[in-house]
Amino acid sequence: TTHLVWFRTDLRVHDNLALTAACRQQDASVLALYIATPAQWRQHQMAPRQAAFLVSHLNALQQALAERGIPLLVKTANTYADSVTVIEEVCAAHDVSALFYNYQYEINERQRDAAVERALENVTCQGFDDSVLLAPGSVTTGNHEMYKVFTPFKNAFLRRLRDDLPACHHAPAVREGGALNRALSPVTVDYPQQPFDADAFPVNEQHALARLRHFCQHALARYDADRDFPAIDGTSRLSVCLTLGVLSPRQCLHRLLKTHPEALEGGTGAAWLNELIWREFYRHLITRYPQLCKHQPFIDWTDRVAWKTPDAAFTAWQNGETGFPIIDAAMRQMNATGWMHNRLRMIVASFLVKDLLIDWREGERYFMSQLIDGDLAANNGGWQWAASTGTDAAPYFRIFNPTTQGEKFDKAGEFIRRWIPELAVVPTAAIHTPWQWADKSQVILDYPRPTVDHKQAREATLAAYDAARKGW
Ligand code: FAD
Repeated sequence: TTHLVWFRTDLRVHDNLALTAACRQQDASVLALYIATPAQWRQHQMAPRQAAFLVSHLNALQQALAERGIPLLVKTANTYADSVTVIEEVCAAHDVSALFYNYQYEINERQRDAAVERALENVTCQGFDDSVLLAPGSVTTGNHEMYKVFTPFKNAFLRRLRDDLPACHHAPAVREGGALNRALSPVTVDYPQQPFDADAFPVNEQHALARLRHFCQHALARYDADRDFPAIDGTSRLSVCLTLGVLSPRQCLHRLLKTHPEALEGGTGAAWLNELIWREFYRHLITRYPQLCKHQPFIDWTDRVAWKTPDAAFTAWQNGETGFPIIDAAMRQMNATGWMHNRLRMIVASFLVKDLLIDWREGERYFMSQLIDGDLAANNGGWQWAASTGTDAAPYFRIFNPTTQGEKFDKAGEFIRRWIPELAVVPTAAIHTPWQWADKSQVILDYPRPTVDHKQAREATLAAYDAARKGW
């Protein structure tokens, strides 16, 4: 018997439910498969940095699997539809009796998997809820409905975890035939790639595990206090590992509880657990409401907001040239590294939607095209939260003031100075309003003047949302 493990966004050998299940039968030969789908990725705006990260981890995975006696086949199919044929061919060529894979919850991915299961008549297919702590659909209200508000979802979620923690599984043992001893050819994929900073993001599974351990031992105790300040390296930066499944959320949970068992009861570490549960919330939501994957708002009336056509102001936002230092520093961080601090994601998203009145879907798309950790559920959730179009989102009349947000979360301008060298001459007291200082001191700055007047923009946005809500 041959068992085939189809890897997708679960690029690891430890605690991988599909891989564990495929390896359970000692005498089965186990084969692994990855299918690159460049045209589909383009359609999903996959960032070239994420592609580079993916390739690095496919190579690491190939090596880790080979050490366990499992060969990895890498194939290319342009789209998900084409990957159905590829799977059929691989199953026929290797006489596969059973297929093991971990679920993805996005709509195109689910449709592809359903088509694969239909096509493989003589192959037993088994899917697993591997990328979540608790399966979508399993945390529901008394009426068996998905929660629409985060806090009760979280409370129900925590109750479930306290009752029964999802277990972590070891990496599979070396197969009977021993490790593969042939030379491995490097895995390549035909998709634009942009190098990522290997000090900031792990290049293989061992590094990811080490980073998780280090974060839990050394940074977690200060997470609650530090996590809102972008100048501090206070968060785990493990998002890309979770997005591509280099780490599982179970590994995060167990490592967290090993150092801070009190996290489950609201003690130290609870704030980080809370973020892991936000990640689950958005995954459960897209599963229950697949229209979210098609970029439809959760709140229907928000589709009537009269968005402005993306123009020069949109380009200035993308390039970090709006004249609002905190916005520009944040956008430059993302453009240069593929990652942006969570607080800043909230601030720049609010700015695009509520100061520039540009459709949140433009921002969602741009983020996907840049983020190393781009993930449909979390990104869509974040944008719909900021745009007040989502479930449990910020109310539409809450509009961040980009200047005071900067003053609050980067008081001394430390983060701003890191990304906007043009402001080096500006004294700290004026770092959030550099032009006011420059005009007074008669200095010419090589930095744009603010592209909008926040007060006026705020009024216009409130009016636009009001009109949409009332159906004018
Ligand atoms: P930590 O603070 O260490 O958090 C631990 C983990 O929890 C993260 O790695 C992530 O997997 C998860 N997490 C944290 N915050 C959130 C959140 N608000 N929603 C969902 N999961 C969360 N996250 C992505 O992984 N991919 C995205 O494409 C993405 N787009 C976003 C867009 C917007 C507009 C906003 C407001 C948020 C977005 N987030 C996204 C959520 C969050 O900003 C990132 O997960 C976080 O900044 C990653 O840094 P970290 O790993 O250091 O997080």
